[in-house]
Amino acid sequence: MIQLERDIKLDIIAGKYKCIEAYKIPKDVDKWLNCPNCYLKPLVWEFNNDRSTGCGCGKNEYDHFSIWAESIMSHVGRNAGSALEYDIYELRNNWNHWVETGEELCPRKKLLEEGKW
Ligand SMILES: [Zn+2]
Repeated sequence: MIQLERDIKLDIIAGKYKCIEAYKIPKDVDKWLNCPNCYLKPLVWEFNNDRSTGCGCGKNEYDHFSIWAESIMSHVGRNAGSALEYDIYELRNNWNHWVETGEELCPRKKLLEEGKW
C-alpha cells in the first residue's frame, strides 16, 4: 500500500497524470483498478460540488478523461439536506465498473440531464 502510493507519487512527479494537483490519491487506492488505457491508478477530485477521476488519458490537465459520480452537495440538494443515502463508494464503483466493462454508469452528460452535478 505504501509502496503503491510511492509509485503513484513518482508517476505524478514524472508528469504521467493529465489532471491538476487538486486530484489526490484515493485513501483506498488498492481497491481501484488500473486504467485499461494508460495503466495508471486514477486520482480523484472529491470536493463538495465535484466528483471525478483523473488518470493519464487526455490532452492536458484541463482536457482529460474522467469518470464521474454525483457530488455530495448535489445529492444533499436533491434529498432535503440529507446525506444519509449518499454512497461514498460510488465513484470507485463507477470507475471499476468502467474498467471492467467499458460502460460509464454516470457520464457527465447524464448527470446534468438528471439535474445532478
Ligand atoms: Zn487512463
